Amino acid sequence: MTRVALVTGANRGIGFEIVRQLAQRGLHVLLTARDPGRGRAACARLCREGLRVDFEILDVADAQSVETAIARIGERTGRLDVVVNNAGIGNDRQERLLDSDLDRLTYIFETNFHGALRVVRASVPWMRRHGYGRIVNVSSGLGSFAKMAAGAPFYRMSKAALNAMTVILADELRDTNILINAANPGWVRTRLTGMQATRTTEQGAATPVWLATLPDGGPSGKFFKDEQEVPW
Ligand code: NAP
Repeated sequence: MTRVALVTGANRGIGFEIVRQLAQRGLHVLLTARDPGRGRAACARLCREGLRVDFEILDVADAQSVETAIARIGERTGRLDVVVNNAGIGNDRQERLLDSDLDRLTYIFETNFHGALRVVRASVPWMRRHGYGRIVNVSSGLGSFAKMAAGAPFYRMSKAALNAMTVILADELRDTNILINAANPGWVRTRLTGMQATRTTEQGAATPVWLATLPDGGPSGKFFKDEQEVPW
């Protein structure tokens, strides 16, 4: 039996590398993206490496798109074992909560928080069918209360909400073999951060991939960086 994984926002950056590493571990991975051209091109690149990767269009900010994509994946593969909520958008470091445009708050939450919750809600029924699930929320150190401060406020708040969601869902799922955790990938060189960041996408993907492949009885409702638990 081959496990089936879905990764959101996977046409580039950390998500793309998560797909690669999961497929290298033998999973059948659905690379999802909101743009079909970019998504198919990314998928073709990994297929040329001999990996078992398929494309599915999925815009996490669109409820209908999430429902349709996960139903199609279920019909296509008969199962869904692993979900990595990676899709995310950033927020200007200079922005301040006292005077920023509140429409930006809604826009960022729609992707970073509501998007992840939509995907989880649509996926858990498939995970329950086979009594197995691994859910990874790609969070950020900027969402950690231990380091909460001014700058990029909507992004920080969206990731803090994603962290809260991780703990709540882990408790709701505590009597199941569905484990849900949050990962901080560190400061990774992608379009989101720019090229000054210190880590490669390979390094950024490592902890999400580790959480996506945890053994039964592994941790749930926790926050990890470099495979070590970190404070919320
Ligand atoms: P990235 O290169 O900008 O990639 C973000 C991905 O999310 C892109 O594929 C983008 O697709 C996709 N996306 C955005 N909105 C979407 C939507 N509505 N539906 C589906 N996909 C959507 O950034 P990244 O650094 O790899 O970020 C990946 C995750 O890591 C994010 O959650 C981010 O917050 C988190 N993170 C990154 C860092 C870092 O240092 N890079 C640090 C901490 C956390 P398009 O190409 O269509 O825009």
